[in-house]
Amino acid sequence: MSMTHSPSGGRSYLAIPGPSVAPDAVLQAMHRASPNIYEGELIDMMPGLVADLKYVARTDHQVAIYIGNGHAAWEAALANTMAPGDLALVPATGRFAHGWADMAAGLGVESRILDFGKQSPWDMERIAEALRADTDHRIKAVLAVHVDTSTSILNDVPALRGLLDDLGHPALLMADCIASLGCDRFEMDAWGVDVMVTGCQKGLMVPPGVSFVFFNDKAQAARAGLSRVSRYWDWEPRAHPQQFYQYWAGTAPTQHLYGLRTALDMIRAEGIEAIWARHDRLARAVWAACETWAQEGPFAMNVADPAHRSRAVTSLRLEAPQATELRQWVETNLGLTLGIGLGMAEPGDPAWHGYFRFGHMGHVNGQMIMGLLGGVETGLCALGIPHGRGALEAAAQVLAEA
Ligand SMILES: *Cc1c(COP(=O)(O)O)cnc(C)c1O
Repeated sequence: MSMTHSPSGGRSYLAIPGPSVAPDAVLQAMHRASPNIYEGELIDMMPGLVADLKYVARTDHQVAIYIGNGHAAWEAALANTMAPGDLALVPATGRFAHGWADMAAGLGVESRILDFGKQSPWDMERIAEALRADTDHRIKAVLAVHVDTSTSILNDVPALRGLLDDLGHPALLMADCIASLGCDRFEMDAWGVDVMVTGCQKGLMVPPGVSFVFFNDKAQAARAGLSRVSRYWDWEPRAHPQQFYQYWAGTAPTQHLYGLRTALDMIRAEGIEAIWARHDRLARAVWAACETWAQEGPFAMNVADPAHRSRAVTSLRLEAPQATELRQWVETNLGLTLGIGLGMAEPGDPAWHGYFRFGHMGHVNGQMIMGLLGGVETGLCALGIPHGRGALEAAAQVLAEA
């Protein structure tokens, strides 16, 4: 006999890879009357916001802010660097590289996609081959998804930079850090990334609605070389506004900015290095539990090698339709929502019900992760899904050592 989770019976927990859990302090900061947009606090807030965004991205270069989700940042990055007919190289390790390439197609930009499947990171040798073959430098940019949120694969961005440098290839290195920023280590300037896109609703802990494009001088030169840039997406006035409205090409996302201010205060207080270390510790606890469950029965992790695993999201497999049953059971009975599988099977294919994901990005701590893992253990027991024993103990050991 199952209980039904009641909203009055405790807090529910959305453990999906975005939107992530928004801190109460962020929500409270947003819950206010609309502020003056002509003068005062909101306008005065901007230089500090920009500085703190650059702190999180580890860059001294520029940032343009967009009212939009990650897809908006994808389009903005392309609109400022690529012209119709230009070519992008797109190494793909899951759904999101294909998504970015599709945005490029909509702008008339051609993509050469190198597909590495759904369980392996970039193969540097194949990327090198493609760059070497491009003797006339038709490739204007490499669209590099740092963490693919569908497969939970972490890719080696510094190695890709090294490759471009070794081959003397002038293509822009553009990184999608929508899932990874504020979770997995990322250093825009030290890693030689020319353009980086991210959104506010994952590691940055703010409800979806604003996104960011960071760009360096090389990217700015690419923009200057275009014959036109669409007014709305143009990063130039947004990064160097003469007037406040130019940050947004219109009305500011007023309440969102207060939420973002509070989230960045929290990030500053903890420190980005400490945040990476926290995500690493919590991810290792998740992996320890998953590896234990996988010792018996159908439970499997998508990424075998820990070196290629994201610390923000974990993609998992059961036997269809067990993943859907597990998600539904823990949501109904425990108030715990897990992520659906994405891009692993087509919706409508029965195999789709064999995939699921954990989000562990942003505002997460040890008791939340142990609650997530305990919830999944409970669901596996309730549904009679065979699994290795001792997963919670294994996760506890990781956190106890930390
Ligand atoms: C979430 C995500 C996106 C898309 O962001 P939206 O806000 O849903 O448009 C793109 N790339 C990656 C890696 C993501 O995790």
